[in-house]
Amino acid sequence: MKTHARVVVIGGGAVGVSTLYHLARKGWSDVVLIERAELTAGSTWHAAGLLPLFNMSYTVGQLHKYSVDLYKRLPAETGQDVSFHVTGNLRLATCRERMDEYQKYCGTANTIGVPFQVITPEEVRKLWPLVDLGDGAATAKIVGALYHPDDGHIAPADLTMALRKGARSGGAEIYEQTEVTGAARTPSGEWRLTTNKGEIVAEHVVCATGNYARQTGRLFGLNVPSIPVEHQYIVYDESAELRAYRQSGGRELAVLRESDQSYYLREERMGWILGPYERGAPARFADGVPEWFGKSLFEGDLDRLLPHVEAAQRRVPCLAHCGIKDIVNGPIAYTPDGSPLIGPAWGQKNLWLNEGHSFGITAAGGSGWQLAEWIVEGEPGIDMMAVDPRRYGPYTSKRYVVQKNEETYRNVFVVHFPDEERPDARPAKTSPIYDKLARMGAVFGQRYGWERANWFAPPGVERKDQWSFRRSNYFEHVGNECKALRQRVGVIDLTPFTKHEVTGPGAEAWLDSLVANKVPTKIGRIALCHALTRRGGIRSEFTISKMADQHFYVVSAGAAERYDSDYLQKMLPTSGVSLKNITTSRGCFVVAGPRARDVLAKLTDVPLDNTAFPWLSGCVAEVGLATDVYLMRVNFVGALGWELHFPIEYAHHLFDALFAAGAEFGIGMAGMRAMESLRMEKSYRMWGTDLTPDNTPYEAGLDRFVRLAKGPFIGKEALETQMAAGVPNRFVTFEVHDVKDADPLGNEPLFDLKGNLVGRATAGYYGHVLGKSLGLGYVKSSFAVVGTDLSIEILGERKRVTVLVDSPYDPENKDLRA
Ligand SMILES: Cc1cc2nc3c(=O)[nH]c(=O)nc-3n(C[C@H](O)[C@H](O)[C@H](O)COP(=O)(O)OP(=O)(O)OC[C@H]3O[C@@H](n4cnc5c(N)ncnc54)[C@H](O)[C@@H]3O)c2cc1C
Repeated sequence: MKTHARVVVIGGGAVGVSTLYHLARKGWSDVVLIERAELTAGSTWHAAGLLPLFNMSYTVGQLHKYSVDLYKRLPAETGQDVSFHVTGNLRLATCRERMDEYQKYCGTANTIGVPFQVITPEEVRKLWPLVDLGDGAATAKIVGALYHPDDGHIAPADLTMALRKGARSGGAEIYEQTEVTGAARTPSGEWRLTTNKGEIVAEHVVCATGNYARQTGRLFGLNVPSIPVEHQYIVYDESAELRAYRQSGGRELAVLRESDQSYYLREERMGWILGPYERGAPARFADGVPEWFGKSLFEGDLDRLLPHVEAAQRRVPCLAHCGIKDIVNGPIAYTPDGSPLIGPAWGQKNLWLNEGHSFGITAAGGSGWQLAEWIVEGEPGIDMMAVDPRRYGPYTSKRYVVQKNEETYRNVFVVHFPDEERPDARPAKTSPIYDKLARMGAVFGQRYGWERANWFAPPGVERKDQWSFRRSNYFEHVGNECKALRQRVGVIDLTPFTKHEVTGPGAEAWLDSLVANKVPTKIGRIALCHALTRRGGIRSEFTISKMADQHFYVVSAGAAERYDSDYLQKMLPTSGVSLKNITTSRGCFVVAGPRARDVLAKLTDVPLDNTAFPWLSGCVAEVGLATDVYLMRVNFVGALGWELHFPIEYAHHLFDALFAAGAEFGIGMAGMRAMESLRMEKSYRMWGTDLTPDNTPYEAGLDRFVRLAKGPFIGKEALETQMAAGVPNRFVTFEVHDVKDADPLGNEPLFDLKGNLVGRATAGYYGHVLGKSLGLGYVKSSFAVVGTDLSIEILGERKRVTVLVDSPYDPENKDLRA
């Protein structure tokens, strides 16, 4: 074994070998893979080999598409066949909500270029003659289906061998029967890995250890939120009906998925493989894979499979005539949201994760592609936030991950409503006033482990969402919250905000080197600042306030806590600046609306008029009995208002004081959904959806937050280059006409009047105060002109769209400067 390599990949499943292959393809030949047993010894050996292109996530969809394209060209490139059967993939629908889900998915597919067809029951029958279309009594009627002609299934071991060949021809080396047992830093900052075959030092380490992710993580001091769940499939004997169909000239049947009954079915040697996602499948190996497990399987659990077997027999009656040959029950890696962990490990430089894959055969190609890009180029080529390991935080305790992974597994095939909020492992992280909000009717959702009030059910209304792709039971109540805030005054609890304190003599210069805007130089000033990637894309959004000399308060999205904290920590200079994450020691209430000043004036002596306290300024104040409150004249709803960032112990007092002071002005609560509607009316871009590394601040229309003249900052050269070459896309706010009940939600394609794809919506909502269905998104620059007519596809229907002025509500910002 070599004693030094530029990169060591740990784990020889499809994912690890793909990472190695892509590193070699990028020209890094000094790369090594270490496998404790032999290649494919993990989950890869017993995977069913399906390659579903269907995925609601824009990021994961791109990774899967890349994989399918790669697997088609690998045999020619490497000389190794991968047994890719391009059978197509048919997903049945038996209800309107399922069709809505497919139609919503079609928007994503359109924007990333995945071919698909939405087909009728009759077309289903033509494609799949052995299917029963249902009578609506014993078997639900098929109402339509989604067909992907391009995917199918592959032999996972052959795929891994092809990737191995490709990697080796690029200079990579693979050591089998070699287990990594320890990791330490060398004095020069490299990794020294201990194995049963000796030591190896590496600049970078990639963990791709599948079911072993937690124990591998522990070697590096990481609590990796990936725990496997049992997953089974049944292998059937030959089917006489299938044989007859094939002998009569029928082509291999598409992989069939009856999502509403939670199973898939595919051909296997004139018989079938039936794979359900059952209820009650347990998480396994929460403390690590035991030594004895090796290449073993669990015993099959037929009771758990039975409801799905019966459903499949109703849909494909010939299945009832086939004997069961085998049940495969193996561990499948999961994460709480079901997406993998691809990207940098937090808190450790040059340590990378490619773990937590539950569709790892499908994702192997794409994950290796982007991770290699990230390691070699320093950045991935597409927005990877949806799979970034740092989207999770320290809240992912073992019990949390177990409960969430079991919930995610049994929900693989549920309808993925955009407003879905799953109940398990909740409440976990709460703001101090959680119980008060619950008594006021709050209907909570969860983000980054935090409970957040989505909306408030008035007295007599059930505190429950009816999830939908369309306007739902909370529509009217959210509208009332919006109007109350615009007409009177409202409070929003934004305690989950990420909050950092940056202090020291080098604080200002350091922050300035990270962001495109000028960091405030005067005490009491606030600036909206964006940290960019080297390619000029937007990686983070920070509201930076200068609190005192050498003291900055840095606020960013609640869900970005670990992502931002890790970035700041890794960029910190060795001296002159200290960084402290104070997220949980300060709470935040927004008080906004035309009467916000009247409410606050009753609680503080600080003068609140425009001269003393203008927009984008702040101070340290006493409010009610609370001291050390950071009072900041900013908000995300575009109203006269202040954010109160207070020591967490004052949460109850301040909340009660605000409501007592505001009673005469009709103060009320507003939730996250009202905030979404209000910010859309103001064209406020949301980090993570509207602002991502895929777009520069120029494309996002944030030119006024870029100061090229201030000196060097990360991403500046890329912005200058883009400026010279011309900005290809522009951010727009648009109105959708003739909407009955389905507003845009984000990820819908935008077309010009000739039907050409010219952009993509990133978000959408109903603007309750404007009374318009609104969307935000990016279009080719020539279409970003106020008044331009375009069209959008929402749930399968084309709607006319008009580009509006930025900030269609109060474009002159009179409200917030009132
Ligand atoms: C029953 C079943 C059916 C499935 N069907 C499909 C499907 O149809 N389509 C699909 O896309 N996915 C499917 N999957 C999921 C798929 O199998 C996994 O997502 C995929 O195999 C993960 O690959 P991997 O490389 O991440 O992990 P693995 O294949 O588990 O590889 C990890 C490797 O790391 C090695 N390792 C661990 N620790 C160390 C160490 N310390 N030192 C050295 N080596 C180490 C292990 O020995 C192992 O070989 C299925 C899973 C199951 C259980």
